[in-house]
Amino acid sequence: MLLHESIRVGADFDAWHTAGGGEGLQIALLETPDKLIAQIEQAGLRGLGGSGYPTHKKWRFLAAQQDATDKYLIVNGNEDEPGTFKDRILLSETPHQVIEGACICALACGINRIIFYINPEQHDSLEQMRKAVAQWEDSELYFSLAKQMGKPIELSVMESSGHYIGGEETAAIESVEGNFPFPRGKPPFPAESGVHGYPTLVNNTETLANVPHIMRHGADWFQALGIGAATGTKIYCLSGDVLRPGAYELPMGTPLEQLIFEHGGGMLVGKELKAVFTGGPSNTILTPKDLDVPLDFESVTARRSALGTGAMIVVSEGTGIVKRVTEYVNFFADSSCGQCPPCKTGTYYISLLLSKIDTGQGSQADLESLYDLCKVLPGAGRCHLLDGAVKVLESSLYHFRDEYMQAIEPR
Ligand code: SF4
Repeated sequence: MLLHESIRVGADFDAWHTAGGGEGLQIALLETPDKLIAQIEQAGLRGLGGSGYPTHKKWRFLAAQQDATDKYLIVNGNEDEPGTFKDRILLSETPHQVIEGACICALACGINRIIFYINPEQHDSLEQMRKAVAQWEDSELYFSLAKQMGKPIELSVMESSGHYIGGEETAAIESVEGNFPFPRGKPPFPAESGVHGYPTLVNNTETLANVPHIMRHGADWFQALGIGAATGTKIYCLSGDVLRPGAYELPMGTPLEQLIFEHGGGMLVGKELKAVFTGGPSNTILTPKDLDVPLDFESVTARRSALGTGAMIVVSEGTGIVKRVTEYVNFFADSSCGQCPPCKTGTYYISLLLSKIDTGQGSQADLESLYDLCKVLPGAGRCHLLDGAVKVLESSLYHFRDEYMQAIEPR
């Protein structure tokens, strides 16, 4: 659906239109905002950037701000997590469906300023989106939208901060205002006071790309795409020690085993599965015991992990977990914006201890310090970065304690 060949035409507006592009918005133009949001609710669309938050609830908060002269939508394409590469495919290969989804969202919520916030290293995404936006601004669809809403709709493409933390919704708002992306405290929530104090909605690229299809085919159709209680599809980013890494759009709730061994072609020849880092990797590690887990928000959470962005980084026996976790925690330490002391010093200290242990210079006391940090740090940061770093550490200590013990043994 999202990655269907007929709509992977880059910024070619005519080819996309011929393949049925734009029908979702045309249908939406005939509906009231309330009905559009109700349809998103019935479809069960969730935030696909990692939160899994019900999309209709965010939309309803924005729609309720009826007195605002301006409302903003930030289409979040910052995408800077290790192992996540889905939004860049949508933005570069299917830019028009992303714009169409954003326009339907604008119609439903009364938004007049849409900003496509794209990682500056994704040159192709930026180029295709700029071309696509220029074509939209000359299209009948765009004029119909403005006429229906009774005010002009501003579309703009901007380079995001490029920092991992710049994808957090309040950090994205800071970045749009031209500031360093320091996450803000809440309240006020962006729906009440976001960009320049105006109501602001931040939605992930993949979330919005689903919207035109829900309008075209209906909420029931979308619901039925998922497996069991899950709805719709998910683009899973499969990477690591598999034969066919890549972005796979599959029914939401596809089992991990099917993703790795059927779609991904299985493990590299001669390799055995050891672990899967999920969603970023800022979550609890999955192990071969979890191969049966359906990859949807609730099922992965029930295994005390999280689906996150849908990234699955597969590692095989022979991969040193201490080294791998050290690399990830180094990434989080480097990405900390530094405004919360427990995060700034905590991620740095974890990184230091892990590096000592990984290079054979660690001690039992260092290991005990890591356990202590796992107890005191969660919840001490303003955003999810600190908790993510602790989760992957704590989980590696739980599943692979023997590797830590080996690393601190005297040589
Ligand atoms: Fe910045 Fe870390 Fe605080 Fe998040 S938790 S706001 S990254 S210092």
